[in-house]
Amino acid sequence: MDLYDGIGQVKGIGPKTEQLFHKLKIYTVGDLLNYYPRTYEQFDEPISIKDAKEGELVSVAAYVKKRPDVNMRSPLKIVTLVLEEEQHQLRLTWFRMPFLKSKLLPGSFYIFRGHIASKRGSLVMEQPKIYTPAEYDKLRDVLQPVYGLTSGITSNTIGKAVKEILTHAQCRKDFLPGNIRKRYELAEYNYAVETIHFPKNMDELVFARKRLVFDEFFTFILTLQQIREKTADLTNRYIMKPSKDVEGFINSLPFPLTKAQQRVWQEIVGDLSGKKMMNRLVQGDVGSGKTILAVLALLTTVENGYQGALMVPTEVLAKQHYQDIAKMAEEYQLPIKPILLTGSMTAKEKRDAYERIQLGIANVIIGTHALIQGAVTYKNLALVITDEQHRFGVKQREALSEKGIEPHVLVMSATPIPRTLAIIIYGDLDISVVDELPAQRLPIKNCLVDTSYRETAYRFIEKQIAEGRQVYIICPMVEESENLEAENVIDYTESLQSYFSKDVNITYLHGKMKQAEKDGIMEAFSKNEIQILVSTTVIEVGINVPNATVMMIENAERFGLSQLHQLRGRVGRGKHQSYCIFVNGSQSEKNKERLEIINKSNDGFEIASKDLKLRGPGDLFGIRQSGVIDFKLGDIYQDAQILQQSSEAAKEVGELLEKNTQSYETSEEIENLREYIKDCMYKGTESIQIQI
Ligand code: ADP
Ligand code: MG
Repeated sequence: MDLYDGIGQVKGIGPKTEQLFHKLKIYTVGDLLNYYPRTYEQFDEPISIKDAKEGELVSVAAYVKKRPDVNMRSPLKIVTLVLEEEQHQLRLTWFRMPFLKSKLLPGSFYIFRGHIASKRGSLVMEQPKIYTPAEYDKLRDVLQPVYGLTSGITSNTIGKAVKEILTHAQCRKDFLPGNIRKRYELAEYNYAVETIHFPKNMDELVFARKRLVFDEFFTFILTLQQIREKTADLTNRYIMKPSKDVEGFINSLPFPLTKAQQRVWQEIVGDLSGKKMMNRLVQGDVGSGKTILAVLALLTTVENGYQGALMVPTEVLAKQHYQDIAKMAEEYQLPIKPILLTGSMTAKEKRDAYERIQLGIANVIIGTHALIQGAVTYKNLALVITDEQHRFGVKQREALSEKGIEPHVLVMSATPIPRTLAIIIYGDLDISVVDELPAQRLPIKNCLVDTSYRETAYRFIEKQIAEGRQVYIICPMVEESENLEAENVIDYTESLQSYFSKDVNITYLHGKMKQAEKDGIMEAFSKNEIQILVSTTVIEVGINVPNATVMMIENAERFGLSQLHQLRGRVGRGKHQSYCIFVNGSQSEKNKERLEIINKSNDGFEIASKDLKLRGPGDLFGIRQSGVIDFKLGDIYQDAQILQQSSEAAKEVGELLEKNTQSYETSEEIENLREYIKDCMYKGTESIQIQI
């Protein structure tokens, strides 16, 4: 079996299962090997009933005292078994499994495993798994992989297929030179892959994971180095003169630029008018005022007779920017002639837009990635800005240069990455930081509460809505599957609807919905046709609905702090006082301590660095800062040390390869590396998407 073979070649995977694998974006044998478990299930010592706590996944060992009750009339055929221990009770329920009645005989002894929930004041375990002590013992001390799933497929199916491949597929050569592996104490590649799926214990897992995280960072940084080499010395082909009119525009704004905005603006102008092409990242916390910097750069571009483009991740955001810029252009009589270009426009609208762009009738083009794809031809595109966009990477650059365009590039990001890490991660970009918020902004008021506060929160929300404001409620993240997450949001919305009066319009938003549907809802929300938006984390980054003043986040403990900070950044954007309510659904002290960080600070950079200190390395399955930078395993915060090491190694390897370009005698190790890098460059940074 070859790594490039289709997944259908694996024994036991028929056409139906193959389709399910495709849904998970697993197409080849190699894809599956790199589909790492999301987490692992550990079968701990069973606990006694009195120690069971709401929200936890536990195993309880108990004798069955009475026969279970079976409700044959209900379509769900609910089986109920009550476990008792001294005064404590735990109710177990199963659906559609009436046959359990003959298994759960009085006097038998089992271990029941499941999540503890609280229903009408008493504790229940729904659909627990049932093990005999012998069965359970076999699972003890082995970590069971838990994979990201889609309906119809189980972790077991995936695990089996991986095992099958591991026994039959050919090993890959390890591309990392031995001396690097030794220095950083890294596992051999094939061992690492096998072990990440089936670790015998925590130590093994940590060791394997370290190697794979190292690879992710190492590959990423190497690829960046190559881009840097290609772009670093590009002489400025669109030298722009700083414009007096731009200065005039700045002076006529209703607010003075902050010192930080002024400094960054000078850096941008310096690039545009300098010797080399601009390749710059502007980092600034949510609300620090990056949009105006983009407008200034676009205006300068237009004043110099060129076109500029602003690229954003979603259509909603594109429309919003388009409207804002068009309004500004009119109000201040700017020479900007904006146009919107998105994937959902009709063919005719698109043709129309293409024509205006080609003729230069439109000089500022705002849109999604449709900007760089398809039939669009620019008259003289000299600047591309990406806002809250995936990294502007190899692929985008290639798409443009195929059109014969090599513009200045400005990337804007609200991701609070400490500077030391940013230098590594964005090694190919110059970095500017807008490290100051506009002075008149009312800081968001935070509160961290437990679930018993929910009713009070709803009453508070009711009041805010009565005053004309709007509200976001973020539902908990469900790791196992998007389907479950969607169900969760729908359930939550239904129960809210019964709480609030009919005039309050409540709608939900989740990742399984179609783009057009999501856009429609966001648009309705921004027009205040919807007052409460219940959402998963798909809620757009960068969206600006200044009238929304309350952000309530359920199960805040399941999110990374940076992500919580991003979510919170959706409020506090207007003149009204805003509030963020973090609902902590767990009892653990550590979670509380972590959430206190964000509760006490509104500064993204401070939060990120405190979070890092609190968690430290080795906190493997703590919360990933998902949504910030999507490496498969690596997390730039908690794996900061590995990131540092891989950066050193990448530098060293880069130099090594450079030296050897002229030599005929290269060692096998260097050949391997060269081969590997060629492969990576071919794939581009496609596999590593970075959200900015
Ligand atoms: P972000 O950095 O999150 O993209 P925006 O550019 O959307 O932030 O700015 C948020 C709000 O702050 C906007 O309404 C904008 O007009 C306003 N703003 C920007 N710069 C200043 C400033 N120097 N003083 C006051 N308000 C500002
Ligand atoms: Mg923004």
